[in-house]
Amino acid sequence: MPKAQIIDGKAIAESVRQEITNRAAKLLETSGKRPGLAVVLVGEDPASQVYVRNKDRAAEACGFHSVKHTLAADTSEADVLALVDQLNNDADIHGILVQLPLPDHIDESKVLRLIRPEKDVDGFHPINVGLLTAGELDSALVPCTPAGSLILLKRTLGGSLSGLNAVVVGRSNIVGKPMASLLLQESCTVTIAHSRTRDLPDVVRSADIVVAAVGRPEMIKGDWIKPGATVIDVGINRIPAPELGEGKARLVGDVAFSEAVDVAGAITPVPGGVGPMTIAMLMVNTLTAARRLLGLPEEEALF
Ligand code: NAP
Repeated sequence: MPKAQIIDGKAIAESVRQEITNRAAKLLETSGKRPGLAVVLVGEDPASQVYVRNKDRAAEACGFHSVKHTLAADTSEADVLALVDQLNNDADIHGILVQLPLPDHIDESKVLRLIRPEKDVDGFHPINVGLLTAGELDSALVPCTPAGSLILLKRTLGGSLSGLNAVVVGRSNIVGKPMASLLLQESCTVTIAHSRTRDLPDVVRSADIVVAAVGRPEMIKGDWIKPGATVIDVGINRIPAPELGEGKARLVGDVAFSEAVDVAGAITPVPGGVGPMTIAMLMVNTLTAARRLLGLPEEEALF
């Protein structure tokens, strides 16, 4: 019998989406407005196509106004910028998401910086990065994956994370850094580890909370985990799985789940942990952006 509680990200994400659906319905009833999400995809990257389709479907399921812009891979940077500008000025659109990566001839940061910060539902605009770092969460839009990971932590640990030692492995702008900012805001003592960190197993062993966002299959071993720690595995890695048949693959996280599950107090599975929370938080951000743009008060937090 595994010792750890398995954190059911799928069920928690479903409850978040249900709550957002209810709140969106109330918004429609009281103001006649639907939260509007525009997703922009440039090119034919198959993984990006799946992500965009899922985001569009999730928005529709929540009762949002959802628009998908699919542009050819050779669309010019100027045309992408013109579309973002148009969406910035569209009163029915409250959230704009440009699916990354963009083709090489388009300057990603130029596009992301043009998105109005109030509509930046991915939370990647420097203004939102700054607001998060400054702890101004009432006006920031926070990146979806770390925001979803925080909800999983709070639901698991009962709200307060104050005083806990948190180790975030990975320092990307998308996951590691915003995760560390959120945990600091929750009064955790935060360590950010990365590829140059010395004695990583020892650093991880000091953690009451481990957030793994590395992109290396099962790198974090069971004996790196402090007994009873809460482990959030953000990693999504596809590895060959010949046992499932020739040419087959399966998904694993950055944590050796089968080992860690016997040591941790609670752990997210891959798949079914953080993954489903990311799209759910995109819905949260879109509703938040809509309410702010409509001048409505902030709603109760979702944990
Ligand atoms: P990323 O930009 O590639 O960053 C990876 C980080 O891991 C870097 O900071 C890197 O350190 C660090 N790292 C690499 N090798 C290491 C090692 N041996 N020891 C310690 N640290 C090491 O990746 P990301 O975008 O943050 O994504 C991380 C993982 O999360 C990926 O598997 C990705 O697919 C997954 N992900 C999942 C979701 C979701 O919805 N569940 C969303 C986003 C990402 P340096 O900075 O020193 O190079």
